[in-house]
Amino acid sequence: MTTPAPNVDAAEIGKFDALAGRWWDPHGEFAPLHRLNPLRLAYLKRETTLAGARLVDVGCGGGILTEALAREGAHALGIDLAPASLEVAELHALEAGLAPKYRCIAAEALALEAPGAFDVVTCMELLEHVPDPASTLTALATLVRPGGDVFVSTINRNLKSFLVAIVGAEYLTRTVPKGTHDYARFIRPAELGRAARAAGLGVSDITGVVIDPLTREFSLGPDVGVNYLMHLVRPQAPTS
Ligand code: SAH
Repeated sequence: MTTPAPNVDAAEIGKFDALAGRWWDPHGEFAPLHRLNPLRLAYLKRETTLAGARLVDVGCGGGILTEALAREGAHALGIDLAPASLEVAELHALEAGLAPKYRCIAAEALALEAPGAFDVVTCMELLEHVPDPASTLTALATLVRPGGDVFVSTINRNLKSFLVAIVGAEYLTRTVPKGTHDYARFIRPAELGRAARAAGLGVSDITGVVIDPLTREFSLGPDVGVNYLMHLVRPQAPTS
């Protein structure tokens, strides 16, 4: 059997692992993810059923979203390739009295092990950190059962997203560390939609995440110019 080529940038994993102790500091480097979490949770609840769902959160980091999903009653598994982050996620879940499971495994490897095993697959703020996002999308499409839901979020690639996500967030407000994002890895919604369709998924919804420059509060809306969420669906298997 051949092992899939690792779709991972070791420098990216190192960056996140070095910050592992900061995952649950609401004012630290991951503050934007904490502020984003209620919104993406509301989006997921609007688009699918979480209670009782078999769910995998790909690129889960310290478990900010995974824990919230477990709290909603999902049987949540979080996977990442940064071991220190996974340790933090596990400890935090224990303290919170929740039971999401965590594993250090690539999406592609889990897809080989457990194809079609999940009702819901989430993959937030990861695609812009991997060398081959199309490979990740194929893995997500394999992990979800026919008729199941896949949710991804990432950052659009245009002048505005460069100004907001890199110049603004990394240099002006310094909400995230310099070098967090690489502009060339940002993904336009049309590109993501194309890759999703090539992986066998249909696009059900695209929703923008807009940040108010004054209050720095996030809200959901039609403007997909910078951050956005996409709901993808795996078609039902044809009945013969
Ligand atoms: N999804 C989480 C964390 C986003 S940060 C959230 O939104 O709250 C990006 C995460 O992707 C980090 O935890 C990093 O370790 C992980 N990551 C980066 N490259 C990866 C890869 N190739 N496979 C799996 N995880 C990866």
